Amino acid sequence: MTSPLTIAIDGPAAAGKGTLAKRVADHYRLPYLDTGLLYRAVGRQIAAAGADPDDPDQAADYARALDLAHLDDPTLRGHEAGELASRVAVHAAVREALVAFQRGFAARAEGAVLDGRDIGTVICPQARVKIYVTASAEVRARRRTDELLSHGRDDVDYARILAEVKARDERDSGRAVAPLRPADDAHLLDTSELDIDAAFRAACEVVDRALAEPDRH
Ligand code: C5P
Repeated sequence: MTSPLTIAIDGPAAAGKGTLAKRVADHYRLPYLDTGLLYRAVGRQIAAAGADPDDPDQAADYARALDLAHLDDPTLRGHEAGELASRVAVHAAVREALVAFQRGFAARAEGAVLDGRDIGTVICPQARVKIYVTASAEVRARRRTDELLSHGRDDVDYARILAEVKARDERDSGRAVAPLRPADDAHLLDTSELDIDAAFRAACEVVDRALAEPDRH
């Protein structure tokens, strides 16, 4: 019997993980969970209630009470929610409160694709496929800048976005609990020189190779 196809996709902010993970999930007809949305939702709910995202106890209360019904709220995708997310994500108790839901999703019999920061290292160390997507901070900042410009924003400043990307990397990689890092058995996918189609083809090669191998689990 083969284990379900669980695909863990991790990497830093603005590396294109989300777009890639969605395409991979569609291609292999697997359910997809963007785990960043959970942290974003916790951050937003704390901010909306006027509570303190840097207080571990308050933040954990919101994480435990998280209403998962509103993860499709488009404001969760914005910059402010991302910053709040990375502040609440440093708290061990917040992360713990979100583990069970993520592991439950990953354990679906039909398989699953999850993207985040700690999927291959903490949430799903047994995932059949782990991909760590990265790109230089400059390339990620350039992509984010172009994306905002393409949405008609006229207040976009590349230098500021680059500084934010680097600050987020530092917070995500430097935290004590579940820091951002590739799992030892992750396939590294550097997309600095790849467009989304090339990145997608490279990811599918990794998955297809894993499917052709005897199941390790
Ligand atoms: O991926 P996304 O930009 O939506 O994530 C927002 C923030 O949530 C990240 O910067 C990170 O601090 C946190 N996060 C995390 N673990 C995950 C997913 C997101 O710590 N699995």
